[in-house]
Amino acid sequence: MTKKLLLATANLHKQMELQSMLKDSGWHIYTLRDFPDIELPPETGSTFEANAKIKALAAAEAGGLLALADDSGLMVKALGGAPGIYSARFAGEAKDDGLNNAKLLELLAKTPSGERQAAFVCSIVIAKPDGKTWAVQGSCKGTIAYIPSGKNGFGYDPLFYLPRYGCTMAQLSNEEKNKISHRAQALVKALPILRDLEA
Ligand code: IMP
Repeated sequence: MTKKLLLATANLHKQMELQSMLKDSGWHIYTLRDFPDIELPPETGSTFEANAKIKALAAAEAGGLLALADDSGLMVKALGGAPGIYSARFAGEAKDDGLNNAKLLELLAKTPSGERQAAFVCSIVIAKPDGKTWAVQGSCKGTIAYIPSGKNGFGYDPLFYLPRYGCTMAQLSNEEKNKISHRAQALVKALPILRDLEA
């Protein structure tokens, strides 16, 4: 029997990252493009996990398949954890990466280099059509740079500096990012759950 998994994300970049990380998992991966009638509900939760659960459950029920959703974002220590669950719309409903990055730089303009710690955080929720769910979380630590660098990735990647690599997330190749990212860390924890579900 083919193992079918529906990725419940409307964000094309996240969809491509998850697809690439799951390519050898043995699961046949579907996306919302295969189910154009599925509309994900608004993310009304107050945590990454709550929002991922809303998306995973909606997709699993509507698609009649096992579904995997992630909710992720950037948490900046000097901003008390902001933008957090509001990462996509930090600078407004337009969800514009450039405006979000500009707002972040502006808010941190007076923050010295030793106080610019940040983390990307990702919650992944797997849901069955019967409503059963599993949740895992991954994170990736870095600091916020003073100017954007790099063209790969998306979102806050050009400002997310990785001291151990000496570059921003946007300067890593897709393959490198997919080994260390918050989504990769969460997916490593999700794979055993998927393996158990195969049985
Ligand atoms: P979501 O689609 O509601 O989960 O919002 C996620 C938002 O967090 C994105 O729009 C980005 O602004 C940010 N984000 C999440 N993951 C990443 C990443 O891997 N790189 C850069 N920004 C990210």
